[in-house]
Amino acid sequence: MNVNPDAKMTNFVAEPRATDAEALKRSILEKLAYAVGKDPGHATVRDWATALALAVRDHVVDSWFESTRRGYSAHRKRVYYLSMEFLIGRLLNDAVANLQLETAAREATKALGVDYDSLVVQESDAALGNGGLGRLAACFLDSMSTVGIPAYGYGIRYEHGLFRQRFHDGWQVEEPEDWLVSGHVWEFERLEVAYPIKFGGHISFDGQGHTYWHAEETVLAVAYDTPITGWKGVHVNTLRLWASKPVEVLDLRRFNHGDYVSAAEKSIKAETISRVLYPDDTTPEGKELRLKQEYFFTSASLQDLVRRYLSEFDDIRLLPEQVAIQMNDTHPAIAVAELMRILADEHGLAFPEAFEITRKCLSYTNHTLMPEALERWNVGLFRRVLPRHMQIIEWIDYHHLAEVQGRNVSVSLDAIRIIEHGSEIKMGNLAFVGSRRVNGVSALHTDLMKQTVFRDFHSLYPDRIVNETNGITPRRWLYECNPGLRKLLVDSIGDGWVDDLEKLSAIVPLATDSAFRDKFSVAKRANKVRLANEIEKRIGLKVDPSALFDVQIKRIHEYKRQLLNILETIALYQAIRRTPGAEWTPRVKIFAGKAAPGYHMAKLIIKLGNDVARTINSDPIVGDRLKVAFLPNYNVSLAEIIIPAADLSEQISTAGMEASGTGNMKLALNGALTIGTLDGANVEIGERVGPDNIYIFGLTADSVADIRTRGYNARATIEGDPTLKAAIDAMVAGEFSPDDHGRFHQIADRLYNTDWFLVTADFQAYFQRQRDVDLDYRDATRWAERAILNTAQVGWFSSDRTIRGYAKDVWGVETT
Ligand SMILES: *Cc1c(COP(=O)(O)O)cnc(C)c1O
Repeated sequence: MNVNPDAKMTNFVAEPRATDAEALKRSILEKLAYAVGKDPGHATVRDWATALALAVRDHVVDSWFESTRRGYSAHRKRVYYLSMEFLIGRLLNDAVANLQLETAAREATKALGVDYDSLVVQESDAALGNGGLGRLAACFLDSMSTVGIPAYGYGIRYEHGLFRQRFHDGWQVEEPEDWLVSGHVWEFERLEVAYPIKFGGHISFDGQGHTYWHAEETVLAVAYDTPITGWKGVHVNTLRLWASKPVEVLDLRRFNHGDYVSAAEKSIKAETISRVLYPDDTTPEGKELRLKQEYFFTSASLQDLVRRYLSEFDDIRLLPEQVAIQMNDTHPAIAVAELMRILADEHGLAFPEAFEITRKCLSYTNHTLMPEALERWNVGLFRRVLPRHMQIIEWIDYHHLAEVQGRNVSVSLDAIRIIEHGSEIKMGNLAFVGSRRVNGVSALHTDLMKQTVFRDFHSLYPDRIVNETNGITPRRWLYECNPGLRKLLVDSIGDGWVDDLEKLSAIVPLATDSAFRDKFSVAKRANKVRLANEIEKRIGLKVDPSALFDVQIKRIHEYKRQLLNILETIALYQAIRRTPGAEWTPRVKIFAGKAAPGYHMAKLIIKLGNDVARTINSDPIVGDRLKVAFLPNYNVSLAEIIIPAADLSEQISTAGMEASGTGNMKLALNGALTIGTLDGANVEIGERVGPDNIYIFGLTADSVADIRTRGYNARATIEGDPTLKAAIDAMVAGEFSPDDHGRFHQIADRLYNTDWFLVTADFQAYFQRQRDVDLDYRDATRWAERAILNTAQVGWFSSDRTIRGYAKDVWGVETT
């Protein structure tokens, strides 16, 4: 690469750009003509959407140049956020909202005869992530821009993001996702920013201290940049995603010999690396390709940041003064070895010094304590793909263990080893050893981390583990997705809360103000009508917006316990059928979520949900007292419609298993009351909203651990709980699957025999808590008051607060 793409930015200074509707309208027409190549008379809705996005993008680019320039001239330390996933969703409305262009955009599009809202939905939802971990990375980018931290997000530009989910006869069917087919206006291709990424081969030493990696395969990582704008466009950061390209496009020699297919083979193989997102964030699959993906984006990112550092500074040893690198889970943990390789093999530092520098730059966020979800790599595979890194990891492990042994402390060496039995590399341990700080994502999770997976590490390095409870961006998750509530809040207390969310506590006194409460309820009602329309449009089910909207939206996983919710639904259904004349609180149970394609039990739970829904929804005895809607293809855009309409938020994971959750925060912020276990961030939500405004039930993390060590007798629980037993019996008898009576026997077997997730143990408490909800919801005034107190008291869960925490405790960077 012979140009410095960042330095080029200092040349252009934009004229101040008008932000009125007339100017925007002119700009849209110009984009339509010169960038899209269409006359208004021939433009499709998609053409208009592209023209609008390009017009808005100009405003983003102005701020982007300006803040990048400011970052350079002030020589500010930068944050590099490495994440295998960025679940960013659509960007048009987000940019419009952040730049305060909404009124202008609505007026301009109206004057052009097109509807703003129908343009916004033309954009494909960029689903470059699975769930919470990827969405967290997206919220963090937003917040780093808002609080003014110069930062880069680094990840992979997957050609196909997370699969699209369809239901066929109630079963999940996966379809490839194709977000790039019609172009993505927010990204800038940087073909000149390309780095070689090597794989395989062997290592040689020249006797003069130089090491050479003779790779078997080399691909190029090419940069694609997307600007991420903060609140009011003051600061804009870059999301830089890497696409893999062949070094040589075509093997011309083979081609000229008529061997057309094999001539393109290498190129196809190279591009495979950034082809698909693995549809599972808990178990590494397609092992070799997955390892290559992890190394691919980590190496490109580190090469890029070292190149940027050296374009401004001379002394590589001072890198930690300018650079903080965050590893989002262990997927980029190979950064520990890769940064050492760059420092030692490319810049001539000795290993001990390279290691010191590495450890000062890197930090690691842990996202799970589940042993099966902690990444491990087979040593044989690893050595074959990354021979030099294997040597470096062996060096780190050896010297680290020697150093600990020399300290004469009592820890289990087996617990802190990186390489286990010489056969597996524990990436969590590598990340821990190579990091300045290691953080958990909720208070409970961080405590458990200190007591379990990293217990021995914690006794060795008591200052290394810190807590940074997750957060969500209030721009997307309130200001943009809930315009009704936004307006009420702005009218009542101004817009200071948008980048200082704890200011929402100013509405606490308004919870008892009947005029405010009425307006709050009107906004909620409008959101429920919108969702009811969406439900009808998507699955053809009519629901009554005055019913209680009970929402569980998240990945389908046994530990998240959608099964507990479905069993409660069955039990409620049976109760209604027994006494339909009793006073029931009408409820709509809303589910959405994808299962990993290889996760059989999760897919069976989806089928059960759909079978139960069909049975209940078509039962005339039940009518509007209970409806069940399982919406397909949960993603950020669907979340933006469901969340503002929710009355009740289901956060019912087995205690100790959900590291934090962020769906819980989004729902509470939008005025849903939580029914949940004392797990993850539910604990901290409960502390803030108070026990009267949340429905906590069930086992605690401690009692779960106790029960599991003592051994749990699920059969006895089921037999002692007639409500639960009747629900399971109905499922086993085929009441919901008349076409296949045995379909759900496997689920019942699991419940009776192991019930690892303790669904049966928590059932009774959950069922009772739901009946409290029924009673409470009938008092609409009181319910609205408590919903308001949720919105008012969860401002602390803004990702701006989380990012300020990282800035201070982990990265050592300034915020504004
Ligand atoms: C917030 C969010 C999640 C995370 O939800 P949890 O309930 O915390 O698991 C997953 N997917 C999408 C699309 C989200 O917006």
